[in-house]
Amino acid sequence: MLSVKQAESTILDLVQPLQDTETVDLIGATNRILAQPVTSNLNFPYWDNAAMDGYAVRYDDVRHAPSTLTIVEEIPAGHQPQVRIQPGQAARIFTGAMVPEGADTIVMQEHTSRAGNEITILTHPKPGEFLRQKASFYQANDPLLTPGIALNEADIAVLATAGCHQFTVYRRPRVAIFSTGNELVSPGTQLQPGQIMDSNQYALAAFVQKNGAIPICMGIVPDDPVLLKATIEKAITTSDLVLSTGGVSVGDYDYIDGILEELRGEIAIHSVAVKPGKPLTVCSFNGSLYFGIPGNPVSALVTCWRFLQPALRKLSGLCGNWLPTFVKGRTRQELHSGGKRETYLWGKLYECDGIFEFDLAGGSHSSANLINLAQTNALAVVPVGKTVILAGEEVRIMQVD
Ligand code: AMP
Ligand code: MG
Repeated sequence: MLSVKQAESTILDLVQPLQDTETVDLIGATNRILAQPVTSNLNFPYWDNAAMDGYAVRYDDVRHAPSTLTIVEEIPAGHQPQVRIQPGQAARIFTGAMVPEGADTIVMQEHTSRAGNEITILTHPKPGEFLRQKASFYQANDPLLTPGIALNEADIAVLATAGCHQFTVYRRPRVAIFSTGNELVSPGTQLQPGQIMDSNQYALAAFVQKNGAIPICMGIVPDDPVLLKATIEKAITTSDLVLSTGGVSVGDYDYIDGILEELRGEIAIHSVAVKPGKPLTVCSFNGSLYFGIPGNPVSALVTCWRFLQPALRKLSGLCGNWLPTFVKGRTRQELHSGGKRETYLWGKLYECDGIFEFDLAGGSHSSANLINLAQTNALAVVPVGKTVILAGEEVRIMQVD
């Protein structure tokens, strides 16, 4: 049985980032992973422009206030100045408007007094004040954005400003998902005695979507080796990653590992010293990866958050840190573990005066109880060898995002 750290690195070593790319435009770029460096042939600011409503002047004319100048032009935003400012002259100018030639400083209107066509500068400005210089924020053809970043709204604003309306991103990973178990039926069906609703299919699809991948939902497959084998074969040939839940434990109806071996997959992980989620199977087939995830709904999601998210991030072409974010904080309740496996307890993370606090979800922490999993945003980690962490003590907390 592998430790959590060993499983984490085994999985990441198996993942090869996707290379295929596609073109997207600004709408539809959110969270996509940039695949090529972006540069722009535009400077930013595009031209010298005013940072204030006021008057564009020559500093030499106003270094000794008060000084009176003649207004030769009015320049609203979007307007191209027509006149070069000569000694003794000024232009009325508004925020964002292009600064006329000859002017090198903007005097804010609050520091002036106007009489007809004359403007008196009451307080002398600093040289170059309130003038945003062309190319002072970005020089054309310098690197702008680097590949491997997930585009957020700030990046998209940068791309738009730089005039880039189409750019290259990695294609989204295709993730096949199916649930296994004779007891499962789909929500919307009348339950017969002994049956349960398939929740994993939908939880995993949501997780996959949230991580920028495309879920391919293949439904429920009964515990039937022939049907399971056919489904697995189809899944591995039509996706980059396969996720099945159930059937990976040691029961008589747990067929997944045997079928993966029959199909000559290379099983890298049979089980992990983690609770919940011990019977995790990870298997590679020439290019695609198979995750046989335990069927208990909490085990399934903890496995996704702890092991699958880093794998999906790497697969997507994301650069940098693929691992979950851990913080240290105090637990509000006592936390218990058997001590043999790294134990993840679910709840909510709060920040109080700069200190993180973990609030354990109330009710049972059985891996079959998913009801108290709703709105989980953090997992408290009890390390191997520890059986209790007292309320108020420090605990490592994994953020779920
Ligand atoms: P298994 O891993 O197949 O032994 O299943 C472990 C437990 O999880 C059993 O109680 C199953 O009924 C339950 N389970 C398995 N698959 C699902 C699913 N897709 N949705 C909800 N519960 C499931
Ligand atoms: Mg089962």
